[in-house]
Amino acid sequence: MLSAPTGAGKTTIARRLIEREPDFVFSVSATTRAPRAGEQQGVDYEFVNEPTFREMIERGELAEWARVHDRWYGTPIRNLSEAAERGQFALLDIDVQGASQIRHRIPDAILVFIMPPSLDVWIDRLRARGTEDADEVQRRLRSALDELACIDEFDFVVVNADLEASVDQVGEIARGQVNGRGPVGVQERVAALRAGVAALLDAPD
Ligand code: 5GP
Repeated sequence: MLSAPTGAGKTTIARRLIEREPDFVFSVSATTRAPRAGEQQGVDYEFVNEPTFREMIERGELAEWARVHDRWYGTPIRNLSEAAERGQFALLDIDVQGASQIRHRIPDAILVFIMPPSLDVWIDRLRARGTEDADEVQRRLRSALDELACIDEFDFVVVNADLEASVDQVGEIARGQVNGRGPVGVQERVAALRAGVAALLDAPD
């Protein structure tokens, strides 16, 4: 499963991987957030209202769930069982809270943390997205600080400098073809990103 701070490119990596490799399937999450322009019901997310989301939890339909950026998100268990029945890898694009729940419920899940290559690239990607207003970007940067602090819980770290190379790496990790946890100097990169984000939040432009 992939987890990463917002804007690091995990959704793009996940989408590209399933396009390229037929043995990967994207786990479509349920969420209470509103669809963004171009997002499709059942393809990007299962968009539901809060009462429906609560019912899904009560009926035991979710493998994990978390409140992220003030909205609910969760992984339907059905996505995991269907992938397993078909002999496919389920690719979960989830936040770090969800990742740690999965770690406890499914001990052999592989947790991959996707890291932006630098603060500048990261901020550019966040802004280029253009789907969030300034307050939303601030809120996401704040959560990103917390997410970066959880990197040690992950089995692998992929620095997303180049999309195709990152897709290759995630595929190899899932197939057990990668030794070691990630590139050297990860802790230094994390520290630099955190310091950069903290400075931006102190002095937003
Ligand atoms: P977005 O609103 O930008 O699509 O996603 C916001 C965050 O929620 C991202 O970090 C994304 O990975 C995370 N997310 C999406 N689906 C799930 C899910 O099913 N469970 C959890 N825990 N997080 C999710």
